[in-house]
Amino acid sequence: MNASPRTSATELAAGVRRGDWSAVELTRSALARIEALDGELHAFVEVQHRSALAAAAAIDAARQRGEPLGAFAGVPIAYKDNLALTGKRTTAGSRILQGYRAPYTATVLARLEAAGAVLLGSTNLDEFGMGSTTTTSVHGPTRNPYGHHLVPGGSSGGSAVAVAADFCPLAIGSDTGGSVRQPASFCGISGLKPTWGRVSRSGLVAYASSLDCIGALAHDPADLALWLDVVGGPDPADPTTRAAIAAIATQPPLEDLRGLRIGVPWQLNGPGLDDEVAAVAAAAARTASELGAELIECDLPGVEHAVPTYYLLATTEAASNLARYDGVRYGLRREAIGRLDSTTTQTRSSGFGLEVQLRILLGTFASSHEHAARFHARAELARTLLRARFAALFERCDVVLSPTSPIPAFAADAFPDDPLALYLCDALTVPQSLCGLPALSIPGGRSADGRPIGVQWTAPADHEARLLQLAAVFRRHTDHHLHRPLP
Ligand code: GLN
Repeated sequence: MNASPRTSATELAAGVRRGDWSAVELTRSALARIEALDGELHAFVEVQHRSALAAAAAIDAARQRGEPLGAFAGVPIAYKDNLALTGKRTTAGSRILQGYRAPYTATVLARLEAAGAVLLGSTNLDEFGMGSTTTTSVHGPTRNPYGHHLVPGGSSGGSAVAVAADFCPLAIGSDTGGSVRQPASFCGISGLKPTWGRVSRSGLVAYASSLDCIGALAHDPADLALWLDVVGGPDPADPTTRAAIAAIATQPPLEDLRGLRIGVPWQLNGPGLDDEVAAVAAAAARTASELGAELIECDLPGVEHAVPTYYLLATTEAASNLARYDGVRYGLRREAIGRLDSTTTQTRSSGFGLEVQLRILLGTFASSHEHAARFHARAELARTLLRARFAALFERCDVVLSPTSPIPAFAADAFPDDPLALYLCDALTVPQSLCGLPALSIPGGRSADGRPIGVQWTAPADHEARLLQLAAVFRRHTDHHLHRPLP
């Protein structure tokens, strides 16, 4: 038996452990496929040939010596370029980190390496994760394999394309307001945002700390379960990490969805949705009901304020987190001889892109002494209310269903000079971020012209297992995950 670019991470690792194929073979074929196809797609910022092949050779040698191999033995994995890996560049898609090399490794990557994963390289993103198109990177745009004129979504667009194009079965992303789920939806794959605090953020370039989560993208939800088992849980380097939950990948699969109560809030399933997106979500609800689930039409009041709430909180936190890029400590420095403030000003003005500058200004304004009570404090209040409303909803249902994005993948020039219209497209993914809830986007169908459309499942905190088990049932009973954009 041969491994194919479509073999799941779980199966690839099992094959490496059995000796069906070697880690070096897998890595070579991944690198060859990237070489052949990534010139057009531009999923990667940096392909790390040498260190990847060395890591793969070390796995094969360990096997030769009869040593036990980890859950991801020999599996090629890509990671978003806002994660630190010792000695490698971390750019976060920004000019301001030009020349910066990470002095330590992010916990999520260290745990993957310890489990035998082969890190292939870093993937493209919107600058500092601020965006939903993967077009604002200093490295240039990433293209959607379903159509090169289409955006792949973002900000983890490079990771989504790396998986959709079958460069690797699993890629790591980050999700502050949808950046794993929305690109997964746009590229026809699955993307998991765990509960806030489930996965250590040590080594993640901070965007908005009360919202940032590390997530993962894959074709097979079983790979996401294995990933969460390997990387989740407490980390002394990140005091916001939560207590461990039971392993998910080894739980017996569900037969069907009998006994599952699915909440379908009308606010997330109708107003403002593209017709084809609404039809896909409705079809997912029908499938779930045929599989035995109970559908509960319900109300989620206050969720219509999620977008402004999110953008006030995210920009306020970003303004504070990005204050560290002062031209002294990291990356780029534009010297202004004799005046400290102008070195910082010049570095920041030329180092940050326009969208990042816009958000720093917005966040500084919203949290300034004169305006904090009116903007930032009210946004915190709206978040608290939304949390209470989700809690009330989860007394009546086990999961919540909605589309992932109100529209399918769009052309790169669809929102010229209209950031607000683009922000509004985050309406279905920011509520979960505001409330720290786990959410999973899975393929649900396609538009008439072939663009993938995802559906999103949300669970109460710490109930990722429920989402991943449900996704496994869907995968057995539907074929949306089978479609691939490239041969
Ligand atoms: N599109 C959202 C934003 O621009 C979400 C980004 C993210 O999750 N990193 O903030």
